Amino acid sequence: MTKVVYQGRSFERLDDESVLRCLLRNGIRAPYSCESGACQACTMRAINGTPTTVSQEDLKETQKTLGYFKACVCRPEEDLEVTLLDDAQKHKYQMEVVEKTLLNNEILRLRLACDEPFEYRAGQFINIFKGDLIRSYSIASLPGQDEMLEFHIKRVPGGVVSHWLSDGVQLGDPLTVTGPMGECFYHEAESVEGVLAVGTGSGLAPLWGIVRDALTQGYEKPIILCHGAMKPENLYYVDELRELEARYENFSYFPCVSAPDEGELLTDLSLGFPNDVAFMKQPSLAKWQGFLCGHPEMVNNTKRMAFLAGAALKNIHADPFVMASPT
Ligand SMILES: Cc1cc2nc3c(=O)[nH]c(=O)nc-3n(C[C@H](O)[C@H](O)[C@H](O)COP(=O)(O)OP(=O)(O)OC[C@H]3O[C@@H](n4cnc5c(N)ncnc54)[C@H](O)[C@@H]3O)c2cc1C
Repeated sequence: MTKVVYQGRSFERLDDESVLRCLLRNGIRAPYSCESGACQACTMRAINGTPTTVSQEDLKETQKTLGYFKACVCRPEEDLEVTLLDDAQKHKYQMEVVEKTLLNNEILRLRLACDEPFEYRAGQFINIFKGDLIRSYSIASLPGQDEMLEFHIKRVPGGVVSHWLSDGVQLGDPLTVTGPMGECFYHEAESVEGVLAVGTGSGLAPLWGIVRDALTQGYEKPIILCHGAMKPENLYYVDELRELEARYENFSYFPCVSAPDEGELLTDLSLGFPNDVAFMKQPSLAKWQGFLCGHPEMVNNTKRMAFLAGAALKNIHADPFVMASPT
């Protein structure tokens, strides 16, 4: 008989009992509705063990990669340790600020250390708390390669949390964080013919992680990254990305500038918005995977353009950096 493990407690599964029914029988208040695998209300995450194939049918590839499964139709042949999605998102981590570096005149690199295991994929995001205020920030670091968690924070004019992180928070201070969340991360897909990554401003944060993730996982088809800023001095990580471009033949990097000073010479930079440059370099996106991050309008327009250029919606991963609504 196999077991279901939840929050350190272990429950024996009865013959033919689903993971959901086993938890409910033992008094765990797990959400559910149709109990036939259709509504996905009972979706959970396996943190140890492999969910059955049938319990992952109809889920997105990114969700499968994260171990999501439908508990009402899951009758595993091995022990399964699970977490409810709500639990995972409510758990608060205390992280310590270990580095603050200005990457240019408006973007801060923040590195955080976490003293408990924090599993994530490069490109997902976390929520940072300042009292009752919550703001999302994308993860730029790569698990297994970068020791600390890395974030790129743009100082938004009049922005409460971005200014607090830039000026108020000191090295050694604790930050309260929940996450990771989101499905904007690289995942292997056999039929994908290339990866297009487009970002503006601190939208490079998730892309810096995603591109390195694909390359270190041995992805060999073309990867194109177009990063945009208004002026050359608003770009960052140019040297690091050129170095990556020199190291990997299949990786091309295009730093783009949309509003240079009049008469300014743009050596080695592309003139224009990063999405326009991207579609000039790669007009057809049939069977391509797209990652779009940063300014909401740019992200939403590019998502539409990518779809019209042939990319399947399931292969377009977008994180528009939408502002929080005023309290
Ligand atoms: C999934 C996700 C990932 C993100 N990742 C990053 C990241 O990696 N790096 C990063 O720098 N940011 C990221 N953001 C944005 C970030 O969460 C904050 O919104 C940003 O830092 C501004 O917060 P703030 O408290 O400084 O500004 P706020 O105090 O919230 O607002 C700043 C100013 O903007 C104005 N404003 C509010 N809403 C709007 C609006 N809709 N349009 C125009 N102006 C508005 C306000 O009136 C105020 O003047 C991400 C957002 C999301 C949703």
